[in-house]
Amino acid sequence: MKRPAVFVDRDGTINEDVGYLARPSQLRLIAGAAEAIARLNQHGVPVVVVTNQAGVARGLFAESAIGNVHARLDKLLARHGACVDRYDYCPHHPRDGQGAYQIDCECRKPRPGMLLRVAEELGLDLARSYMIGDKLTDLEAGAHAGCRTILVRSGYGAQAATTLAPGAYNVAGVFDSLLPAIEFCLPRLTGQRQAPPPWHAVRAMPGVSPAPRQSPRRRGG
Ligand SMILES: [Mg+2]
Ligand SMILES: [Zn+2]
Repeated sequence: MKRPAVFVDRDGTINEDVGYLARPSQLRLIAGAAEAIARLNQHGVPVVVVTNQAGVARGLFAESAIGNVHARLDKLLARHGACVDRYDYCPHHPRDGQGAYQIDCECRKPRPGMLLRVAEELGLDLARSYMIGDKLTDLEAGAHAGCRTILVRSGYGAQAATTLAPGAYNVAGVFDSLLPAIEFCLPRLTGQRQAPPPWHAVRAMPGVSPAPRQSPRRRGG
């Protein structure tokens, strides 16, 4: 069965947006971001970082710099017991750019290409997944992919929140930062995991006495 995931923008959502972050030493985690990712890890929810890095197309830094930054980010997160399951990035730009990087690609947000290809690789259920970011283009990419979306007010989010129309981009909520956003969506992501196993599955296991039958679900009444 396909699993839901949380797709997370990087700059302005996990780490401070310093504009074309190219050096690992520029990385500063936003308060609570590592704890938020650790919470998802603890519940087995895949964490996928999807980030536009047009600085590559613009010749501001090499594509290899992105890997160095993510290696540093992994170290900072590991101090808090947090781990990103998968990174994806778009190094392209439709107009500015050099050589192969100047392309009207499908992966640059607000297009959903990064979400779609990671979902394919990891077997993710997009309809039950969330996309969280600080720009409306993050939400737009998430909505195009069929995800629910959340805007955070960190980074450019406070400004973006003033122009977000209610109900636009499948938005489920606006929160101050990643941690409260994850606290909101985690119970919705793990609701099924807390359900007891199907009755027939319990009964079929030899040597295991069935658990008492659960009373009917209280929700949905
Ligand atoms: Mg951002
Ligand atoms: Zn791209």
